[in-house]
Amino acid sequence: MDPVGVAAAPPEAGPGPAWRSKCPWGAPNTTSISCSLADVMSEQLAKELQLEEENAAFPEVVAVAEGPFITGENVDTSSDLMLAQMLQMEFDREYDAQLRREEKKINGDSKVSISFENYRKVHPYDSDSSEDEVDWQDTRHDPYRADKPTTTPRKGFIGKGKDITTKHDEVVCGRKNTARMENFAPEFQVGDGIGMDLKLSNQVFNALKQHAYSEERRSARLHEKKEHSTAEKAVDPKTRLLLYKMVNSGMLETITGCISTGKESVVFHAYGGKSATEDKVIPPECAIKVFKTTLNEFKNRDKYIKDDYRFKDRFSKLNPRKIIRMWAEKEMHNLTRMQNAGIPCPQVVILKKHVLVMSFIGQDQVPAPKLKDVTLSSEDMKKAYYQVLNMMQQLYKECNLVHADLSEYNMLWHDGKVWLIDVSQSVEPTHPHGLEFLFRDCRNVSQFFQKAGVAEALNERELFNAVSGFNITADNEVDFQAEIEALEKMNEDHVQNHGKKLSMFSSDGDPPIYDE
Ligand code: ADP
Ligand code: MN
Repeated sequence: MDPVGVAAAPPEAGPGPAWRSKCPWGAPNTTSISCSLADVMSEQLAKELQLEEENAAFPEVVAVAEGPFITGENVDTSSDLMLAQMLQMEFDREYDAQLRREEKKINGDSKVSISFENYRKVHPYDSDSSEDEVDWQDTRHDPYRADKPTTTPRKGFIGKGKDITTKHDEVVCGRKNTARMENFAPEFQVGDGIGMDLKLSNQVFNALKQHAYSEERRSARLHEKKEHSTAEKAVDPKTRLLLYKMVNSGMLETITGCISTGKESVVFHAYGGKSATEDKVIPPECAIKVFKTTLNEFKNRDKYIKDDYRFKDRFSKLNPRKIIRMWAEKEMHNLTRMQNAGIPCPQVVILKKHVLVMSFIGQDQVPAPKLKDVTLSSEDMKKAYYQVLNMMQQLYKECNLVHADLSEYNMLWHDGKVWLIDVSQSVEPTHPHGLEFLFRDCRNVSQFFQKAGVAEALNERELFNAVSGFNITADNEVDFQAEIEALEKMNEDHVQNHGKKLSMFSSDGDPPIYDE
């Protein structure tokens, strides 16, 4: 027994017995007896208070567990499951890193090397490359803004006289083959052929292609089970980790649950927290749109970007995972354009990979109703119509965008006005099918408001002219559509030949603004 230790202990606060601090053998065990009823009571009180506090601080644990994050039936343990899964993922990563270090140590500078590839926990297919870590919102510049479209010479060669280069040129062809390796499956390691100006002969390229495809099939077989299990959950572990980090960093207070599950995205509600930077304010309520990483879902969306010259360069270079992020990125940029034009729409909070956080349209976790679900007085309906007409014009003229999925499903009624959402597929009017998309939007809007009894509602052809500023006079749908396609074709040819879009597409010619 060390009496010094006891003596060094701070004197007890409160009305403790005076002999205690003097006793060299420390406090006798019997002190509990001297505990008054009031002490016991207050201890209980303290416990109660603590419990209360805990409940107030961590309601999300239960809320999240009820959400789509977890498929486990036991609600109490499911948040533990989530944490365990995340820890396991981190552990697996570390394990792999260790394997890589060992691999390096054994191989050294030797020309012949061994690989621990098959022992890795996280297969390259599932892992992100470091460049994936780039946060898209760091690109302040809107890369989708139409700059200069590239012209591809029709004649099939460039240069003059003996400097002429055809597409069959060995060097050009070799470089092209190297670039085409980017199209191989993401896990297929092709090295930095472009960086070192590697030129692949057709023969070598074809052999590599063959190999890449058989590898892809092998990998698909290997991971069929894994993919399946993640598809069952609405959110895969990686997304969960992203969301978890958002809550952990304090940016989001709690994620309360799922608002919508669509084919291509899942939308969650969250209460906003505090921003890391002072100049940014996180809205009190947020909507989190998670673009689904199940690759197949996006196949039918190809048409929106495949022909879009703004994407031509990027599209061919991206792997499917990045293409999905591109949708999220596109939605962010389109929303920003709309915000700048003053169109009521969600405000972008942050974009992390395929997860877009924006302000929530609605209140107290209840999302604003879609226009298709809300019952409006005829006066409000008329007001809504003119507002939509105005927004379509603004979208076209000021944002240089066509919504391309505009209907009563993507318009919310909130605060006595219409809000536009879901703009990841929106394109510029000069998109090869941009005007067709616009016409489809016009048809949806026109039909909806006519059915809703707005007598003033223009028909789809009038609406198209009013929004675009064109003056197509065809009085039936078939001819009208044919003229639209002819316009698109004309613009395409013009872009091909002159490297710029037709002047009639520019916003110089003011379309008449229809107003109440
Ligand atoms: P999808 O491509 O799945 O249609 P949406 O962007 O239309 O994606 O979102 C789906 C649903 O989620 C919407 O119909 C709406 O009910 C809800 N939602 C999306 N964004 C928000 C938001 N910012 N505020 C409130 N609800 C939203
Ligand atoms: Mn939608």
